[in-house]
Amino acid sequence: MKSLDSFPRVSLGIFPTPIRKLESISRLLGREVYIKRDDLTGLGLGGNKIRKLEFLLAQAKAQGAEIVFTTGGAQSNHAMLTAAAAGKLGMKAILVLKQRGVTACVGNQLLERLMGTDVRFVDTDDYADIYEEMDRIGRELGRPYYKIPCGGSNALGALGYVDCAREIAGQGLHFDHIVCAEGSGGTMAGLALGAKLFLPGTKVHGMMVDTDPFDQITPELMRQAAQLLEAPIEITPRDYALRDMCGPGYAIPSPAGNAAVALMAEREGIFLDPVYTGKAFAGLLEMAEEGAFAEGERVLFLHSGGAGGLFALGG
Ligand SMILES: *Cc1c(COP(=O)(O)O)cnc(C)c1O
Repeated sequence: MKSLDSFPRVSLGIFPTPIRKLESISRLLGREVYIKRDDLTGLGLGGNKIRKLEFLLAQAKAQGAEIVFTTGGAQSNHAMLTAAAAGKLGMKAILVLKQRGVTACVGNQLLERLMGTDVRFVDTDDYADIYEEMDRIGRELGRPYYKIPCGGSNALGALGYVDCAREIAGQGLHFDHIVCAEGSGGTMAGLALGAKLFLPGTKVHGMMVDTDPFDQITPELMRQAAQLLEAPIEITPRDYALRDMCGPGYAIPSPAGNAAVALMAEREGIFLDPVYTGKAFAGLLEMAEEGAFAEGERVLFLHSGGAGGLFALGG
């Protein structure tokens, strides 16, 4: 197997991110619940995309890209963080966003205005149209460009979360369960593959906040990332667990998600977001309620960020 360290990488974030016990919530649930603060990755307002971008933008640089394209909805945290990272590395970001969600100058749109980001909206639900539009703009500008898929969720981006699992292994505590949000799949796939490689005895649970076929996307991304690493392993359905926490729809707050945001804010002074981490934490609460965590087991919740969208969507 290839070492993660053999892949080109740019330094964007502050790592390792802290792991802390959620004292008040642990008392409430009668289980030991910890939080991994990937909301504190240190660029933009923090979040999970920074780990992926360290690998993706290294490839963009190596290929001589001057322009970086990416996409998502109007309030995409990933798009905002890509713009922040590209600017830091001296590249120009062009965000070709779906004209869906809150397009007003609030939340991530406001942050993009502060950075002077080139944002273009396309009125489509089809990513094929978006990638075509990127090529059209790229040709028009005549400069070398690099396209990052929605959420940075390809095999190379997922390596960021394989590395996060390795980081957790080095932080000293064993966790029986890790719970994270799953939106485009790279975070969950990376963590689940990373757990297989570096965290024996840890089960990773993806809390699905969108309606894509994650039962296919997750193992496929895991396989592709394992292939990049030349890791001779087979992915089976026992290597990951999924739970539908989407509620009324992607980026539409759910009552359970909003209650989880409020609980974390009230009891721990930590802010989750209504699109991803609130719904994911609601899933953790449901699992605790159902008895999914045995007495004495340790649970780690991945706080994947989302602060930008918090100010556009409320709770
Ligand atoms: C993108 C995002 C996720 C989901 O991660 P994926 O790798 O896209 O599944 C979770 N939380 C936040 C805050 C995000 O911005």
